[in-house]
Amino acid sequence: MSRFFSDKFSSLAPYVPGEQPKDMQYIKLNTNESPFPPPKSVVEAARVEAQKAQLYSDPECSLLVEKAAETFGVKKTQLLFTNGSDEILNFAFMAFCDPSTPAVFPDITYGFYKVFAALHGVPYREIPLKEDFSIDYRDYLGVNATVFIANPNAPTGMLLGVREIEEILKSNPDHVVVIDEAYVDFGGESCIPLTQKYDNLLVTQTFSKSRSLAGARLGVGIASENLIADLNVIKYSTNPYNVNRMTMAAGYASLCEAEHFSKTCAVIEKNREYTAKKLKEMGFEVLDSKTNFLFARNEKIGGEELYQKLKERGVLVRHFKAERIKDFNRVSIGTLRQMDIFLENVRQILLEIKQ
Ligand SMILES: *Cc1c(COP(=O)(O)O)cnc(C)c1O
Repeated sequence: MSRFFSDKFSSLAPYVPGEQPKDMQYIKLNTNESPFPPPKSVVEAARVEAQKAQLYSDPECSLLVEKAAETFGVKKTQLLFTNGSDEILNFAFMAFCDPSTPAVFPDITYGFYKVFAALHGVPYREIPLKEDFSIDYRDYLGVNATVFIANPNAPTGMLLGVREIEEILKSNPDHVVVIDEAYVDFGGESCIPLTQKYDNLLVTQTFSKSRSLAGARLGVGIASENLIADLNVIKYSTNPYNVNRMTMAAGYASLCEAEHFSKTCAVIEKNREYTAKKLKEMGFEVLDSKTNFLFARNEKIGGEELYQKLKERGVLVRHFKAERIKDFNRVSIGTLRQMDIFLENVRQILLEIKQ
């Protein structure tokens, strides 16, 4: 740290992204990316736009917003596109939290919530998941704070019902409830329809997982017009051109590829169920996932040890050191071939440690 770094950030512990190794070709199942490249039309749309890269992008994302309004069934004024959904989450912490309006979120959830809270000096309270790692919606009723819930949750993969989220919304009419739907396309039910009824709901989604665009950085917030207006104040006070031309065009083309989208999501869901079944047959406890990853543990081997042994064999999964989940690994769902290689390596590792 230099002597110039602001005191207010001196104790900030930044978010640690999953490894993006360059040293060897791994079977990469550690950051929940899609194993499928984006469709050709999406790549081509970005290529064409790159020829106009000397010009700023449209700060209003007009075409993309129009297409998304149609896709999501909301008004254009209910949408805000951002540079990945991390950015809209960041905006939400700025817009809807402060020292007198703390944040609450589960103890086991997306690690960035804690970082954003610390970055903006927002006090926060972590609510423990139940023993079985599910969220008890009753813990969030009338909490007098801004609520952040990833649904399905990460890294557990478990889904909370829309009806339960509606109870949370009803009981916190004077606070914003943010539902992070990064993984909702893999078998979950979206809360977007509730944005027509509740002015305190912000739903966030990303093009990083189900739409194969992690490297393009595109996220979106869907909410009542007033919440979106607030978030726009933050956006135009930080980076009006937050979505670049190539990404904007890719996002538009992606929304036009409805069939490709639902097909690839279905393949991921199928591969997930296949992998879960095989892991259970090998003695793993696998949490019930509605995402493109599985969260699993096996009493025969520690989480960290399995992670290390898989890495040595060229298979990368994600391990978290937090006490409650240190026995688990999070495994992104890839192609069937990738999952078979992963499963075969797990099988060999379990055999090895038995001897
Ligand atoms: C991946 C992820 C995000 C954000 O990803 P972006 O690439 O920034 O859109 C947000 N929330 C959760 C829970 C995620 O797993």
